[in-house]
Amino acid sequence: MKTIGLLGGMSWESTVGYYRAINEGVRQQLGGLHSAQIVMCSVDFDPIEKLQHSGDWQAAGRILADSSRAIEAGGADFLLICTNTMHKVADQVEKAVHIPLLHIADATGDVLVRDGVKKVGLLGTTFTMEETFYRGRLAEKFNLDVIIPDSEDRQLVHDIIYQELCLGKIRPQARLAYTRIVESLACSGAEAVILGCTEIGMLIGRNDIDIPLYDTAEIHAAKAVESALL
Ligand code: GLU
Repeated sequence: MKTIGLLGGMSWESTVGYYRAINEGVRQQLGGLHSAQIVMCSVDFDPIEKLQHSGDWQAAGRILADSSRAIEAGGADFLLICTNTMHKVADQVEKAVHIPLLHIADATGDVLVRDGVKKVGLLGTTFTMEETFYRGRLAEKFNLDVIIPDSEDRQLVHDIIYQELCLGKIRPQARLAYTRIVESLACSGAEAVILGCTEIGMLIGRNDIDIPLYDTAEIHAAKAVESALL
């Protein structure tokens, strides 16, 4: 079994889910008392969030690059950045280490293509929804038509992520808002919706809505298990 490197803490609320899903996945595959071999570095999210919102991605990337080097030194065979947004600095991280990075958008794109989805809605932070590092990758590498909510709803989705989900706050009103936004993406022709922020699965799931939801944290964790057991 290979050793999985996790760069977590963004936020830790969702990293907990990765840890559980990966260990459950290994137990399911190998049985008995088997569990995953993991080297994790969990960062302090507050300074990173401040750097994101002030636009200093280089500095945020340096923190992630340093953490990645520590993960590699700890013996990881490959690396996951446990957040969609921070894949904005994926190049900086990849350059800092020799082990491969399992990109969250690639893991998600693969599953969408496998399922024959062509037009897909995307929910996440405004960075993830609006910038090319994520949407562009899905469009160019996987030929997906990616649609996003209008600007008011994008801001609402973003604010709920940082002000509630990353703090572990789950409010029924927030669930209703997300459900309404998913439905409006479906009305605009989305065949499925990507939960492109690793905390969104804490708020909405398949029981809340009919349209297929692709939870990036779940998909990324499953990809880690598959790669570790190859
Ligand atoms: N975990 C979130 C994501 O998947 C947002 C927190 C962050 O900015 O990293 O994008």
